[in-house]
Amino acid sequence: MAETARTTDDLVDVLIIGGGPAGATAALYAARAGRSCRTVDKGVASGALGTSREIANFPGFAEPISGSDLVERLRAQAARYGAEFITDRVTAANLDGPEKTAYGSQGTYRGRTMIVATGSMGRTAPLPGEERLVGRGVSYCATCDGFFFRNQVVAVAGATDEAAEEALVLARLARRVHFLLPAEALRGPSELARKLEDEPAIEMHRSTRVEEVLGADRVEGVRVKTQGVASEIKLDGLFLYLQGARPIVDFLGGGAGLSPDGCLVVDELFQTTVPGVFAAGDVLCKHLKQAVIAAAEGATAAVAADRYLSGHAKLRPDWS
Ligand SMILES: Cc1cc2nc3c(=O)[nH]c(=O)nc-3n(C[C@H](O)[C@H](O)[C@H](O)COP(=O)(O)OP(=O)(O)OC[C@H]3O[C@@H](n4cnc5c(N)ncnc54)[C@H](O)[C@@H]3O)c2cc1C
Repeated sequence: MAETARTTDDLVDVLIIGGGPAGATAALYAARAGRSCRTVDKGVASGALGTSREIANFPGFAEPISGSDLVERLRAQAARYGAEFITDRVTAANLDGPEKTAYGSQGTYRGRTMIVATGSMGRTAPLPGEERLVGRGVSYCATCDGFFFRNQVVAVAGATDEAAEEALVLARLARRVHFLLPAEALRGPSELARKLEDEPAIEMHRSTRVEEVLGADRVEGVRVKTQGVASEIKLDGLFLYLQGARPIVDFLGGGAGLSPDGCLVVDELFQTTVPGVFAAGDVLCKHLKQAVIAAAEGATAAVAADRYLSGHAKLRPDWS
């Protein structure tokens, strides 16, 4: 699906952060309610659905479909009604006052309401040595920082498309790229895995977990474990694309209320403790994390945002 031209400084009715099933369905309902709607997402292949190889239980699909295909279809359906999708990673937000602002790596986005739909692929804890060496050889963006590592030895740690694509960027710049794959195989489309295998500058290390980032003032290497066996690899730089299972709410900076276990607090209309700010999908702590449930919550949050903008509290579906 083509991305809409980047005109990000205008105020939209509904600003959605995260374009997985929750965010894309929220966009569909907001657009069909006649609301201007912008969704900012860091990349299809970064979310839980986008990285799932096969989905066989999403209603309406008799044959299994890949997670990334399903996300693309959900987005295309919303775009058909005027919803706008932008690729950017949101790093901070301001929820105070009548305008809600999200700050991305490439732009600033403003909405009269905001729906947080960033899922739960957040990391639980940094690696030993990681925080000390951020900006001193530890990076999260090869496209941004790769140039600083020309003709040097670097590693990429991760199992997603994003990690693979960034390793291919680095292979054009660095002398050697160690790909530290914490699983046996890469998640996502197999052609990317083939490209990695075919790239002479990339050395694959399967079933390899990073245990520690080494170096006092600069990255000097990593301590890894491959199927239980520990070893060290000397490096000049380390690019991390590791994911966990924690709700991604860090960019809110504590702007919305969290429960003692770090979960966003929402009411029955999926409104957070901040009026006009809603949340849906896996970013909320719940028992059943499934695409159809995330989609349903996205729909509810969008209808609630529409009613909030109209000054009504009660929900009505968009065909009423
Ligand atoms: C391996 C695996 C297999 C699964 N299999 C199934 C299955 O068979 N059937 C099923 O129904 N469910 C399955 N699930 C669960 C399902 O994928 C999730 O419940 C669903 O994707 C949640 O949707 P979501 O929109 O809340 O989050 P996600 O799908 O995670 O989408 C969140 C989006 O937010 C974006 N994002 C995150 N942070 C930022 C940021 N800071 N800035 C901008 N964008 C951001 C991400 O790029 C992503 O696109 C599976 C999950 C996994 C991990």
